[in-house]
Amino acid sequence: MRDKILEICNGWGIALKVVPRDKRRKKKVVRGYEGNNIILLIQNSGGEWDYSNTIHEIAHWIVSTPERRKEINWGLGPSPDGFFSIETVKHSYDEEGEASLLGIAIERKLGLPWERTFRYHQWDDLMEDGKINTRTIMKIDYVKELRKLGFISRISFLPTKFVMEGPKG
Ligand SMILES: [Zn+2]
Repeated sequence: MRDKILEICNGWGIALKVVPRDKRRKKKVVRGYEGNNIILLIQNSGGEWDYSNTIHEIAHWIVSTPERRKEINWGLGPSPDGFFSIETVKHSYDEEGEASLLGIAIERKLGLPWERTFRYHQWDDLMEDGKINTRTIMKIDYVKELRKLGFISRISFLPTKFVMEGPKG
């Protein structure tokens, strides 16, 4: 699994920096991305990698813009709960949604337990009183956007080859 994740990073020109979870807490490092194409990879106390969060951060990098890939946390602000430094809050929500779906798609492609992340990010909450709710409509927009960009398959959440290899040329 580590090799597959490193392969994706190599394809996209991303560096991973391993940060033990305990150290991260002590130093109050709350971001997954320290700028300059370096993603912080959280390592649990047993030494295993936190694949789900690392892949989520990689997905953020992919859906971000080349300019913001140089910024800490892609210029999105301190956390998913406090995104205020980008143009609009709506844009931050959109990008969080795109990164979430793309990360889930990558997890699925790699054979990781993507369903857990899918539920954790509340994608299973699609209907309300038998009707599609506003949140769902937003989610459908993210899917459309990801498909338009060629990041996930046209018929499913599966990432395309493009995602695995990074942009050509
Ligand atoms: Zn995020």
